[in-house]
Amino acid sequence: MISHTSLQWQSSDWQSILQTAIRDSETLLQAVGLTADQVDAISGEAAGFEVLAPGPFVSRMAFGDPRDPLLLQVLAQRQEIAPRAPGNTDPLEEQRFTPVPGIIHKYHGRVLLMSAGSCAINCRYCFRRHTDYADTIVTPARLPGVIDYLEAHTEVTEVILSGGDPLLTSDRKIDELLSKLEAIPHLERFRIHTRLPIVIPSRITPELCQRLARSRFGVTMVVHCNHPQEIDSEVARAIGQLRSADITVLNQAVLLKNINDSVMTLEKLSTELFRIGILPYYLHTLDRVHGAAHFSQALQDSKRLYQSLQARLPGYLLPKLVSEIPGSTSKTPIY
Ligand code: SF4
Repeated sequence: MISHTSLQWQSSDWQSILQTAIRDSETLLQAVGLTADQVDAISGEAAGFEVLAPGPFVSRMAFGDPRDPLLLQVLAQRQEIAPRAPGNTDPLEEQRFTPVPGIIHKYHGRVLLMSAGSCAINCRYCFRRHTDYADTIVTPARLPGVIDYLEAHTEVTEVILSGGDPLLTSDRKIDELLSKLEAIPHLERFRIHTRLPIVIPSRITPELCQRLARSRFGVTMVVHCNHPQEIDSEVARAIGQLRSADITVLNQAVLLKNINDSVMTLEKLSTELFRIGILPYYLHTLDRVHGAAHFSQALQDSKRLYQSLQARLPGYLLPKLVSEIPGSTSKTPIY
């Protein structure tokens, strides 16, 4: 029997932690003391989306709890392959907004640069779970086309690294890319969308912080944390390092049925985020991606929940409840 204490990550660097991450349902269930029948688990292969859960994240799961909110975000379950389950494989129609491979340009003044083709964790509700990153990420061969595009589009003032998880890129490569972007005069801001500071906090290295701190850009890191149980002292330490480097840190969460769909959980999430130096930014409704319908909540219930949350939190701790509608000029507030 594997247990939390035997997971190999303590005192390891982030790459070693990633290499030893759990990559199948069976090992994940053993690590938390459950059987497949208790949670209706299937293999990642059967679900068409690999199971991937790194040790630090698994260590925050409650042992023996089939309803653990962290476990249910990463475990492949039978509902994913339910016949006639709603959803599609590109719910945000991102292919439509890809002017050159490696860039998604949906909104005025800012672009997404797809700098990594994998993640450190596979979230079962991910709207990119069917994305073929081979077609979409910035490769060395595609980089000149991406830079040409940015140089030509003088209305673009902000570049957002996305993926996959852009912090899976080495510090050296981030430095090289950032230097190229800094040479484009009209760019002003640089943002990184990442779940790594939450799932493998040791990814926040002194080298990364130093490089971001000396950038001429205003730098923002938008992390992704859905439940207060995802926050521990290691996460707090990593966020503290980012804040010491003058990096603005915001959070986006996804509203997920049976994971964080309670006022108490969302209130605690906001207050815990603030305690460690993160401001709540967005609370996304679930995108209609195929395989994730079991996380979906009725819109009326989401609105009611949000109204209650609004009554309990000061404005600066209330994330904006939004949906992404393909073709809209911005995210759509739904309350
Ligand atoms: S970390 Fe983000 S991009 Fe990666 S699987 Fe999770 S939600 Fe998707």
